[in-house]
Amino acid sequence: MTRRGGLNVLVAGGAGFIGSHLIHALLADGASVTCLDNLLTGRQSNLDHLRDEPRFDFFEADLVDPLPRLPRFDRIFNLACAASPPHYQANPVHTMMTSVLGTNRLLERAREDGARFLQASTSEVYGDPDVHPQRESYWGNVNPIGPRACYDEGKRAAESLIFDFERGHGTDVRVARIFNTYGPRMRADDGRVVSNVICQALSGSDITIYGDGSQTRSFCYVSDLVDGLMRLMARDTLPGGPVNLGNPNELTVEDLVARVVRLTGTTSRVVKRPLPVDDPRRRRPDITRAYDVLGWSPAVALEEGLEATIAWFTNEVQPDLAIRSERLKDDIIAAE
Ligand code: NAD
Ligand code: UDP
Repeated sequence: MTRRGGLNVLVAGGAGFIGSHLIHALLADGASVTCLDNLLTGRQSNLDHLRDEPRFDFFEADLVDPLPRLPRFDRIFNLACAASPPHYQANPVHTMMTSVLGTNRLLERAREDGARFLQASTSEVYGDPDVHPQRESYWGNVNPIGPRACYDEGKRAAESLIFDFERGHGTDVRVARIFNTYGPRMRADDGRVVSNVICQALSGSDITIYGDGSQTRSFCYVSDLVDGLMRLMARDTLPGGPVNLGNPNELTVEDLVARVVRLTGTTSRVVKRPLPVDDPRRRRPDITRAYDVLGWSPAVALEEGLEATIAWFTNEVQPDLAIRSERLKDDIIAAE
């Protein structure tokens, strides 16, 4: 394969929710992008609009297996890993191997190519934190043998590998510890709270709160997150260590549900379900480092992001309703 102009970038996991937005931003920035994805939780439809894009290539491959023949890269983003608890727990061994074997394969490629490497790590490395908010210097409180461990410990092992490549081989590495991110292109069956609650509200089914709803999260809109990832990769020099990327606006799950109920006007019932094992009680990023090093802080307010996500899911979950409301809007405009 020949270079197609701009930086040659690999996005592993690019058919997923965040990855597909990242690819869009990279192409807009003039890069040539190769996506490698096994379509475990990602979808070809997230990339359909790029079918005729000459600066885009797609390889269906699993990172646990040896890599297919690929061109040389300048930049490698590793976003490959199911991110929603029900999905990453469905095949926990594969989840762990994706983070450990997969990250190792991509690091080897980065070393051979002299490429810069960025890992999508996670706030889950802090586990159920007993330090709040979470700074990068906090080592975390993770149950290493629980049902979340395949994801949390897999991502922690990946971070460990990454900094060994930096120390041992001088590989240029970056680690983003991503906090809960939401937005268009999440799957309706993703299982995470924002997509669940919105889809339940739009379809009129029961809205599920796990536990008493007092646990907190801090939700970041996807365009803000992608901006942070782009900045983190673009900086030529970076003081070592991971960088938290997330929105520090912390709220309870109960509060999130109340907002979605209000924004959708749903008549769904809200029901309580058992809290999953090891579910973190609270989570909020300290983003001082991202601000100091990257000049980054999120710009999209929760209400604005939820409205955009609800609008997108309205088309996904209720296409008939969306078409009807578009026609209604057209009728109103025609009548005016
Ligand atoms: P996602 O599930 O939509 O995307 C993950 C992508 O990786 C999918 O396209 C999936 O098919 C692919 N994939 C999984 N295992 C693979 C393998 N073995 N080989 C090749 N491809 C594989 O999830 P997302 O929300 O877009 O998350 C992207 C990345 O960001 C993940 O690494 C996740 O851990 C990290 N992250 C996300 C969040 C969040 O709130 N969305 C928070 C923290 C970290
Ligand atoms: N949650 C919930 N209802 C749902 C899905 C999730 O109350 O339908 C809760 C979940 O138990 C957790 C929080 O919402 O306390 C965030 O869950 P999510 O799976 O989105 O992310 P994570 O737990 O990985 O932060």
